[in-house]
This record gives sequence, C-alpha cells and structure tokens, in this order.
Amino acid sequence: MASGIVGEFFELKAGASADLLAMQMGDFYEFFGDDAETVGEELDLKVSERSSGGEPYAMAGVPVADLTPYVKALVERGYRVAIADQRETDDGIVREVTRTVTPGTLIETDDAEAQYLASVVAHGEEYGLAVCDITTGQFRATTISGEAATGLALNELDRFDPVEVLPGPSVRSDDDFVDALRTDLDARLTLFETDAFAPGRARHTLETQFGDAAGTVGLSDPAIAAAGAAIAYIDETGVGALASITRLGSYTADEHVTLDSTTRRNLELTATMTGGGRTLFETLDHTATNAGARLLKEWLTRPLRHVETLRTRGAAVEALVEDALVREGLSETLGEAYDLERVAARAVSGSADADSLLRARETLALVPELIDSIGGSPRLADSPVAALFEDLDSAAIEDLRTELESLADDPPKTLHEGGLIKRGYDDDLDDLVARLEAATEFFDTLEERERQRHGLSRVTVGRNKTDGYYVQIPKSESDSVPDEYEGIKTLKNAERYVFDELHERERELFRLEEERGEREYEAFRRLRESVAERADLLQAVGRTLAELDVRCSLAAHAAKRGWTRPALTDERGLEIEAGRHPVVETDTQFVPNDLFLDPERRFLLVTGPNMSGKSTYMRQAALITLLAQIGSFVPADSARIGLVDGIYTRVGALDELAEGRSTFMVEMEELSNILHSATDESLVVLDEVGRGTATYDGISIAWAATEYLHNEVGAFTLFATHYHELTTLAEKLPRVENVHIAAAETDGDVTFLRTVEEGPTDRSYGVHVADLAGVPEPVVDRAGDVLDRLREERAIEAKGGGSGGPVQTVFDLGAGEFRTGGSEPSNAGTNDEPPAPPDTEPEQVDPEAAAVVAELRSAALAETSPVELMNRVQEWQRRLEEE
Ligand code: ADP
Repeated sequence: MASGIVGEFFELKAGASADLLAMQMGDFYEFFGDDAETVGEELDLKVSERSSGGEPYAMAGVPVADLTPYVKALVERGYRVAIADQRETDDGIVREVTRTVTPGTLIETDDAEAQYLASVVAHGEEYGLAVCDITTGQFRATTISGEAATGLALNELDRFDPVEVLPGPSVRSDDDFVDALRTDLDARLTLFETDAFAPGRARHTLETQFGDAAGTVGLSDPAIAAAGAAIAYIDETGVGALASITRLGSYTADEHVTLDSTTRRNLELTATMTGGGRTLFETLDHTATNAGARLLKEWLTRPLRHVETLRTRGAAVEALVEDALVREGLSETLGEAYDLERVAARAVSGSADADSLLRARETLALVPELIDSIGGSPRLADSPVAALFEDLDSAAIEDLRTELESLADDPPKTLHEGGLIKRGYDDDLDDLVARLEAATEFFDTLEERERQRHGLSRVTVGRNKTDGYYVQIPKSESDSVPDEYEGIKTLKNAERYVFDELHERERELFRLEEERGEREYEAFRRLRESVAERADLLQAVGRTLAELDVRCSLAAHAAKRGWTRPALTDERGLEIEAGRHPVVETDTQFVPNDLFLDPERRFLLVTGPNMSGKSTYMRQAALITLLAQIGSFVPADSARIGLVDGIYTRVGALDELAEGRSTFMVEMEELSNILHSATDESLVVLDEVGRGTATYDGISIAWAATEYLHNEVGAFTLFATHYHELTTLAEKLPRVENVHIAAAETDGDVTFLRTVEEGPTDRSYGVHVADLAGVPEPVVDRAGDVLDRLREERAIEAKGGGSGGPVQTVFDLGAGEFRTGGSEPSNAGTNDEPPAPPDTEPEQVDPEAAAVVAELRSAALAETSPVELMNRVQEWQRRLEEE
C-alpha cells in the first residue's frame, strides 16, 4: 500500500473522474504509477521511480510553469486530466482537485476551429441535443422528434463535429446509438453523472445559469435535459468559463436545409472525399479572421430556409460586391481584429493574458473605424451591411476600450513582474515606479562610480537569479580590489564581489520590484474582471465582425469569379442559366450549362459517356442551390432558386468504399434514407445508384426508385445513370425528362463537349476513355470490336435458369422493350471475332417456347414493375424448363 505523498495521489485520483491526475508538489506537477507511465509515453517525459510503503512507483513530473502545454497535449489526445493544486493552510499543505481538463473544456486551445462539447439525451422517441463551445461562449439546444429522429440526432451531432460528447442515461443503454456515436464522430464519450440529466435538476441548472431566459427560449424537456447536463458538466470541470455563456440559443432543425453527412461528404463542403483537391470552403474562404472562417464554415454546413433572412444576406453581399474599394478596406481592417469571443471566454475563466486584452482593446478600436467606412460609402450606408452594427452599443464599446487604455502597449508575457500598466493611470503606482527608477539608477551608474572610486579599469556590474547584483573584476586587477569588497564567486578569469551598500540598495530595489509587480498584477486582474463582466459585449462585437467578415468574403469571391445574385423564391423551381461548378471552375476552362426544373419537369435522367461531366453537372446544381441558401451569390449568369428543405446526394457504391459493411448495403441504406426523408421540396442527386450489384438488380432498383421519387416523393431529382434502359422512363412518366452530356466522335476519337442537351444519349464511350487513359492499343481495339458486336445485338443478357441454358433476351433500346429471338449471337466464331456466349447450342424454339416468346413480345413493360417482371421471367423460365 502506498502511503505518504504517493498514497495521497492515489486517494485524490480515486475521487477524480479523470484518466490522469497531475498533482502539485512544490514547483512541479507529478504523475505516479500508471499515470506516470502513460504520460511518459505520450509526452516523452522521463519516468523515474519513487518508493512508498516499501514498493516502487513510477513517477513523472513537469514544472509548474509548463503544465498548460503538457495538459493541452494530453487532452488533445483524448485524455481527461485532473489537476490537483496545493495550498498552504494553518494545518500545513492541502491538495485538492481544482480542475478537470477535458477535450470539450479546453479553454487554452490555440486551434482556430470551433470546439464543441455536446450532450445528447433520449426521451422516448425524442432526442434532446445541446452543444456548447466554451472558447467562444456559444451555446445551443434543440429537441428532435419524429420518425427519423435517431438519424437526425446523429446527423445533427455529426454536423457540429464535437470533440466530446456526454451521452445521457437512456442513450448509454442504446448500443446501436453509442456504436454510431463511436464510428461517426471523432469525439471522446464521457459518462457524466446521470442525475444531472434529470429534467427537474437540469431546468434548475439552466435557471441558475441564465435566469429567466431559460424559461423564455421555449425549449422542451429533452433539450433542457441535455443543456442542463452540459452546463453542470462544464461547472464541475472547474474551467470557470460559465460566465461567458450568456445566451442559450434554441433552434429547430427545420430552420435549416437538411444535409446528411453523406451529402456533406459528397459535396465536399469542408472536407474532400479523397483528401486531395479543394473543398468548397477552401475555395470560397477569403475571410480575414478566424471567427469569420468559423462562421463561414457554419453557414456552409447549415444553409437556411427562411427567404427573408437570405434576401437580407444577399443584399449585403450585393452592396459589398458593388463597392469593391470600401469592401477591400473593410477586409483589411478586419485583418487586424482579434478573436473577441475567445478573449471573452478567457477573461471569464481568468486565463486571458495581457497580450489578449491588449488585442481586444485594439479590436474594439476598429469598430468606429468600420462604422465610418461603411457610413462613408453611399452604396453601403443604407444596406444591411450598416444594419449589422445597429445593435452594438457604441458607448459601451468606447467605455471598455478607454478602460483598457491603461494597459501597456507592449506588455511582457509574465503577469507578476510589472510592465503591464501605463504611467498616468494610478498615482501610487507612478510614485512606486519613480522610486524604483531611482533605485535602479544606483546600479546603472555603479560601474562608472566604482571605476573612479577605486581606479578599477575593467569593472562590470551584473545581476542573476542566484547571486543578485554583483561587481565583477578580472583576475588581472585583483590587486586593486578594495577591502570592503567581499568575494562571492570565483570564475575562470574573474571574481565576483558584493559590498554593504550594494546589499542595502539591492534589498530596497527588490522590495520595490515586488511591490510594483503585485500592484500591477492587481490592476491587471481588475481590468480582466472588468472585461469578464462585459463578456456579452465582447461576444456581440466579435460576432458582428465575423458576420461582416463572411459577407465581405462572399462578396470578394463573387466579384473575383463573376457570380450573380440569385433570385430566391418560396415557389418550387430551379432555373439556372450558364451555371458552373464553384470549385471545378477555378482550375478548368469550364463549359457553363443551363438547368431548368419545375413541378412539371422535376426528374432529369442524365446520361452521357463516362467522364463527360454528369457528376459535375449534378453537383453544380446542388452547390448552386446550397450557395443560394446561405445568402451567397452563385456561379451562373442568372439563377432563380425555389428554396429547398433538404439536399440529398448519393453516389453509387463502386465510387466509394465503406468500412466493414458491404458497399452495396451502404448504398441501399442511403438510398432508403433518401426515399424516406426527401419531400416534394427537396433536391435529390443520385449518381449511378444501383451500380453496386448485378445489372438486372441494378436496373430494377434504379427503375423502382425513379418511379417512387417521381410518383410518391415528388422531389426535384437529377439521376445520372449508365443504364440506358432507364431513359425510356421519360416516355412513361410525365414529369421525367432525359438530358445528356454531349460528346463528339470523329475518327474514333471522342471530344467531350461538356454541353448538356435534351434527350437521351444512346451509347457509352467507355472504350474511348480507356484509350485516352493509355490502355494498351490491342486491348482498346479488341474492346472496340466487342462493343460493336454488342451494339449490333443491342442486347443485354438475361441469365436462363437451370438446365435450360442461357436464353437470349434483348432489350430493344428504341422500343424500350424486351424481345427474344432473331438476333442470337453466332457461335461460329474465329479467333478474330468477339467472344460468343457460352459453349452450347441455342435451344430449338418449340410451341411452348413460341408462346412464351409471344408473351414476352407483348409484355407491357412500362406498366410492369421490375419485381413483377422478374417474377414473370421466372415463370417463363419454368415453363421452358418443363419442356
Ligand atoms: P462523369 O460523372 O460523367 O463521369 P465527371 O462529372 O466526373 O464525369 O467529369 C469528368 C471530368 O470533366 C472532370 O475532371 C471535370 O472536372 C470535367 N468537367 C465536367 N464538367 C465540365 C464542364 N462543364 N466544363 C469543363 N470541365 C468539366
């Protein structure tokens, strides 16, 4: 059994809910036992041994001054680290855990990204969700209900990308949900005390934190449970940031365009699928501040559905596009701004240093500058850009800025050695500094005086931590050293001395220095508290600057790329003239294309050769819609966008590999999700869906999905497919149309024209792409032969059953129907000819077979579902087999 200090460590550790404990022992924080081993390994610290109760224990330590970076590194690796500080009391030294640093409560982060702590509870079929970024004081909560609540809750969590999640009691026992949290999120799951999630307790927590506001934001119970637990957790970690969380924002999922995680990934909003290339965010981002970049990212992942808000954003962007000069000036000014939301949170937690308060002061001074520039531009003065600043209390901003004036212009990093406060703000301090300067003067002139007094030619005066002030004389002059000098240290070529007056003066100087340090630190602390008390003002200014920054950034990009302001409406319809893909257009000679959808033409089957631009065309429609719904301009000559409630995209299984599950299974799950979730106000983009399985399966599924989307869901849909069979659907279903991406073929070479034209394409140019890609010529030639042969047959093969051998059934593209007979491939091939079907003679057509063929001929394909068709084919096969 460990006793003494090691015993104390283990006792504290047992009471702390953390992975690791750092316990202060004088000038060090120490880790013992397994903790020491872990820390040693993770941070490459030296691990030594200490014995206690007759047993050896591993021990590792970091100096007090270096604790923060070490803890930060541990927390960023996912550990929760408890910190036990020591305190001197009348009964001796007492140690207790004062803070638990966790991924979601790391106020010391340098990362510019948002750092969300999330909390999630389940009440029956409903989920409550709260997310909080303590580094900026942002806090939001919502309740999610309805049939698909589980998926929506996970999606919502994923969208915030939290670093730490607190699952509530009922969520913890839901293995599937916990598994999904583990696989979908890169977050630490923390089990916080279940009582904190109890509705009564949670409500009480919120009322304590926000006063009446908790009641007025209209949150329902699940949201309150999640939010209350999050606040209680933050409080318990001791980070001391609660006062910076001044507002609880409630929101409902239907304010935003639904974008599931697959869609966000497919559209490469903030991450690319492959890791290479550029995201939409990277392409658009011209923000000048970290807070602006965070907000732009948030806009991109949470487009809005409220037409008025979007029009106001659009009008602001438009005004900024039109006054380029002032806009550039604004961006330049914003470039000097500091992250005020972060300063507010750090001031509240007591961790803000002098430099961050100084930069807060400088940032506050930018506000009148920005307001002046905006007011000075006729185009901006009456625009929603000016309105951004209307709610800011200019007088309060000026007050705080003036108060911060007392801060030195170039403060040191340390807070205890003075230099933080300017002269002229505190008479006592000024007096103290004057005395200190006089005391320093003695040492500044000492060298000269000693030289003259004692005829020493090479005397120097120095100061260091161990010796304090001293006089140093080279050994060559040791004969001239006066008696009053007392030697304190011998160096190789010199000797150091002190004498009585030097000692006295030094004591006086040190006392003054200490007094000054304390006094300035006190003044600094008062300033910091004053800033903390106005955290909400700093947050409001910080948000306003970020809002301006994002609008300037969107305007800069729109101006650079010649984008237009879309007309937004609540009516269904998508009308894009000369649209471009916002990312592809930046590094390609892009061929613009139109798109027209309305309630009568809501489903486009997009065909065309591989690599012709189908995916690009469809994604560009989704991205233009998304950009319009964040308030941005769009890459098109003109655009009229009927707002959508959700954007769903799905890319066929072959394009993607998912872990552990069959890719086709994933493809179908996601298709299923779209068929369940999309509405007649959604935009759906399906790229080669159905490709992950055998041809007939694939066609059947694609066919049925098309019918369902067209007849039942009514969503605007773009569906790229290489199943040309599907193009006949346009004839059968009134609101389905074909478009294709044109390619020209001359002398066997394909030129991609990239233009979208009405009507279907009837062939695949895959062989030519193979050629372009450098596949060896014999292979390309051979493939060309095979293709010609197949084209002649215009066939796809249906496998026959059992002993009957293959039955050749052709799908007549012209008629959009299956046929048999007449065009069986010849078996008498030479080596030069394309391969024949398996090595059996075709069956003789007997009466029963003829009957089957007749039925086949007359089968009304369009009115028959793929599944039913399969049944009938099976039936025909059975009859043929019975021969
Ligand atoms: P598909 O889906 O038909 O296989 P993609 O959409 O993947 O084709 O496009 C193939 C290539 O063509 C991509 O590299 C893309 O950048 C380029 N591309 C697509 N559309 C255009 C266009 N309108 N103008 C210029 N390049 C385009």
